[in-house]
Amino acid sequence: MKPTPGTGANARPAVSARDAIMPREPIQVAGRLIRPGESVAFDAPLPSLYSHAAMSLPIHVVHARVEGPRLLVCAAVHGDEIVGVEIIRRILRSPLLRRLRGTLVAVPVVNVYGFVNQSRYLPDRRDLNRVFPGSENGSMAARLAAFFLNEVVRTCTHGVDIHTAAIHRDNLAQVRASLAGDPQLTAMARSFGAPVILNAPLREGSLRAAACQLGIPMLVYEAGEALRFDEVAIRGGVKGVFRVMRTLGMLPPLKAVSAAESREPATARSSQWVRAPQSGILRALKPLGAWVRKNEVLGIIGDPFGVREAEVVAPWAGLIIGRANLPLANAGEALFHIARFGEPGEAVEAVEQFQYDFSPETDIGPPPEPPIQ
Ligand SMILES: [Zn+2]
Repeated sequence: MKPTPGTGANARPAVSARDAIMPREPIQVAGRLIRPGESVAFDAPLPSLYSHAAMSLPIHVVHARVEGPRLLVCAAVHGDEIVGVEIIRRILRSPLLRRLRGTLVAVPVVNVYGFVNQSRYLPDRRDLNRVFPGSENGSMAARLAAFFLNEVVRTCTHGVDIHTAAIHRDNLAQVRASLAGDPQLTAMARSFGAPVILNAPLREGSLRAAACQLGIPMLVYEAGEALRFDEVAIRGGVKGVFRVMRTLGMLPPLKAVSAAESREPATARSSQWVRAPQSGILRALKPLGAWVRKNEVLGIIGDPFGVREAEVVAPWAGLIIGRANLPLANAGEALFHIARFGEPGEAVEAVEQFQYDFSPETDIGPPPEPPIQ
């Protein structure tokens, strides 16, 4: 695929003038030199498995001839969170990239060791998203973190890191970003088009925090559950990344902006998990995306005989943005993730609209390919 230059009339200025004036030179990512106009998929070598099986980090770089920002889009930092793998596949196949300005660095599977084990963690049982910036001489996880950060992330100017909920949990599509004092990141987060933005503080050891330390605005798109595909989450994610690229000036602006395109996401004031008041079997009564009132019953948890039962009650009003799908819980386990908003209507409307926009039944866009059922 050969990106073609955009025209001056079509071009929208990048968010940062600093990015737009960078000369177009070859880019080196994980030891591989990519020239302007090249679209290259390659495997960066990683330490092999103890079985002697070789391991590598799959990377695809689209380095346009036209200057512009360098956007990292990565997924499966948690090895079992595979929605982003499919999002990146669809992005890389899109004809839109022929009009790219700048550089797209796509890494569909960052934690390849966890991915082959269908596990969130690395074989050393560490969480990659808690060990950034990592260290070349550290643990297995720390070494992978340092390699990814130094060889890939540092070559980029902006980032989107795609996650899902952990195993046996489901997340409503949402963008997480630390918005305070960062207009570029705020513009990226708002333009993504997820129904909800969680203004989430940086978590120590996360890729997002490490990127921020390097001055690289990075948002997290969270949608769906681990080890499953979710067509709405995938379509919304593909569209979201392209919207961010338009905002950064990496793609030409839309000729006509639809109502859906200009919809504002609801920004949560805060969020918190409601935990199991006792151990037992949960009968959840509220789905993901539901608005709940303060003291509303979210579910009932009890023993198999239905004798000692307890209500799980919403301690505040808000939107359910995450939920346990496994009905078996010990006391203290996280069951419902509720985000607080100023106005309920705004959040509920944004969720319904997102579902409508990206459900295969109602999506009015050109059919990308057969939906995953
Ligand atoms: Zn994750």
